[in-house]
Amino acid sequence: MVAVQANYYQVRLDSVHLLPAEPQPLEVTELLCTRRARLKKIGQQVMVGDRVLIEEPDWAGGRGAIAQVSPRTSELSRPPISNVDQILLVFALAEPTLDPHQLSRFLVKAESTGLDVTLCLNKRDLLTPTEQQEWRDRLHQWGYEPILISIYQQEGLSELQQRLSQKITVVAGPSGVGKSSLINDLIPTLDLRVGRVSGKLGRGRHTTRHVELFELPAGGLLADTPGFNQPEMDTAPEDLALCFPEARQRLAAARCQFSDCLHRDEPNCAVRGDWERYEDYLNLLDEAVARQTAIARLKDAESTTKVKTTEEGQVLEPKLESKKYRRVSRRTQQQNLKELYKDIESGLIEPD
Ligand code: GDP
Ligand code: ZN
Repeated sequence: MVAVQANYYQVRLDSVHLLPAEPQPLEVTELLCTRRARLKKIGQQVMVGDRVLIEEPDWAGGRGAIAQVSPRTSELSRPPISNVDQILLVFALAEPTLDPHQLSRFLVKAESTGLDVTLCLNKRDLLTPTEQQEWRDRLHQWGYEPILISIYQQEGLSELQQRLSQKITVVAGPSGVGKSSLINDLIPTLDLRVGRVSGKLGRGRHTTRHVELFELPAGGLLADTPGFNQPEMDTAPEDLALCFPEARQRLAAARCQFSDCLHRDEPNCAVRGDWERYEDYLNLLDEAVARQTAIARLKDAESTTKVKTTEEGQVLEPKLESKKYRRVSRRTQQQNLKELYKDIESGLIEPD
């Protein structure tokens, strides 16, 4: 399934269906589908990226009904896409200047999904071959083999296409690095296709952010994420080291004395050491610990306070013992708190 809009699912067929017509057969490659009531009843969601079984296709009308969803190999929540094979992280070597710490944050965020991460560095035309090699060497130390490309000079793009072929890839990266240029270059017919699909689906103004997988001419499917310059981190302190290939390598070769080692100042730690990004690790660890503390404090507060929604937003106020005076039901309250956690995680509210 490659796109969803309201209750309609755009499904790309595994093989082209030939519809008899004059003067020549029509090729059907996609069907606009609904979800069978049976799936709705058992709460089976259909996500972009899902492999689905279509019942009773109406080839001439281009319609069908999704009867079954195959088990997923992976599930991303933002953007909501299943069966993703890898994340393609795009950065620019210059304009904007490549900031290693920002790159590190994006890499950690991408690694936290557990998916394969492919790093692509654009605008190589702005750097000398020596400077390019320096970045290659440096990133090799980090555990990455980046693909250096220039869209302007059409360099490195076939290597990139090979890395994308036969896979579902989600593109991420800050704005200004050339993500849109890259996607337009990889899928020259994109505008045409977007126009066609939106016509069929009647894209509404009130729909949430649109998620769609685009087919690459050289094989594979690609989804974009909106450009954001600072990814929200949500990795737990104990999982953070696993988001660094350098730390993973060290942990594969030796063990820390303590199984719950955070690799800070514990004795006999296998991870702490002389590697470039160890400082980045410590900074992100501090943030992760602070985040965890803030969430724990909020959960604590839940037992003695309740969340009240006012015009200024959500505030905590002491919980009244008597049921009679309780204005927010327990359920609403928990719902509010959930929202609050979400807001904190997404950075709308700064935990103190
Ligand atoms: P996005 O914000 O990541 O989608 O980036 P855009 O695709 O909008 O590109 C940002 C800027 O980078 C634009 O001015 C592009 O013309 C420029 N740009 C894109 N690719 C290249 C490239 O290969 N070399 C150079 N020098 N500039 C590029
Ligand atoms: Zn350790």
